[in-house]
Amino acid sequence: MAKRRKKKKKIKYILLFLFILIVGLTCFYLFNKESFLGQIDYDINGDITYYDRYGIHLNFNGEFELNEEYNSPTLVLSNGRHEEIIDWDITDDGGNYSFKTSNYINEGINLEKLDIGTYYLLVKVNKDDESIYFPLINKTKYGNISYYTLTNDGNKKIDITWDKFEGHEILAFHVKSINLPDDVYDITIDPGHDGNDAGMIVCADGSVPNKQGKCASSQTYKESDINFTVSEALKNELESMGYKVKLTRDSKDDTVPTYGDMGSATTANATKSKFNFALHHNSTNIPGGMSSTHGLEVYVAGKSNLDLANLLVSNITKYGNTNVSTKDEFKVKNGIYQRFSDDGVTPYYYAIREVGGIATGAYVDGSNETYGKNPYFNSNDTAESYLIELGYIDNVKELKNILNNPKGYARGIALAIDEYLKKE
Ligand SMILES: [Zn+2]
Repeated sequence: MAKRRKKKKKIKYILLFLFILIVGLTCFYLFNKESFLGQIDYDINGDITYYDRYGIHLNFNGEFELNEEYNSPTLVLSNGRHEEIIDWDITDDGGNYSFKTSNYINEGINLEKLDIGTYYLLVKVNKDDESIYFPLINKTKYGNISYYTLTNDGNKKIDITWDKFEGHEILAFHVKSINLPDDVYDITIDPGHDGNDAGMIVCADGSVPNKQGKCASSQTYKESDINFTVSEALKNELESMGYKVKLTRDSKDDTVPTYGDMGSATTANATKSKFNFALHHNSTNIPGGMSSTHGLEVYVAGKSNLDLANLLVSNITKYGNTNVSTKDEFKVKNGIYQRFSDDGVTPYYYAIREVGGIATGAYVDGSNETYGKNPYFNSNDTAESYLIELGYIDNVKELKNILNNPKGYARGIALAIDEYLKKE
């Protein structure tokens, strides 16, 4: 009996100790946080004039004024204990500073790299050998953003919020681990066209299909079906690498609207995907297998860093056993293309333009009834978008290569994505 009482007492002490420890740590944490926010100089502040999240990156443009007492400004993400310097391009015009975190839409702060915790985006300056932090104020019409990290490395949610500390605005990054919601994905694949719209129809022997789209002397192939076959194989490849993947349609015969809730131009953003890949096959519209044009074309948005596009080209040509396109029009470099509307800025393909929101220049808002609604046309929180023309199916030789090896093309795309994300 005495022994048991002793044991009970011991447990009581352990519980009491744990209670004091938890209370103590909580107080220490809260005090630390408060004291860091209390150290910030709210008399000075800068402006954020633009910001967006495109893919895995977050970008800011902004400005501030400093007199001569202050020098060496740096942009930091800090909570007093952990501090990270953020790269920026900064110009000083007699104390009027303007900055941007990148010249490319798909560079900037890599959200995948943030550790669990709360951080503040601040400018750090020196005055009399002392470091001073000041906040950045939101001068854009955009509010808070929630980002979910890629699933192959545990799930984190990052709430990028304009918080208040004693009435002062301060931009906070709250990074916590979570269970990923069912309707959030890493990557969206859009198999171009659908059950209602075949895209190009071709005959295996290079002859011309009849008016009903049927070939008299050989097998008939629809672009929409080939796009789906490669997309499905790509989904399997990426899932085996640990990514969560959404297809804009689930079968060859499925029909998909362009806009609306889960359209080919809106699914990536509705699912908070980090990337959107629209897969197509090209044609020159010269009937009868006459096309001598052939090869791969990867279309990218303007102001893009080409790292992922380069990897797509090298891996697809290798595993698809194919070549870069022989076409020169719109070519930026081998296999990589940028096609714009007449304004020279807005991407020609909606799969890049509309998915990209303000980063790429989306403009369909649903006011024109021939288009559906794009809820993300003015969004600053969108997926990084690519359109890939895997090859020319009106080139008989290339059609055969694609039909024989759809998994090779898919493997090339998946390895490119994985390599890019592991390198970043
Ligand atoms: Zn197409």
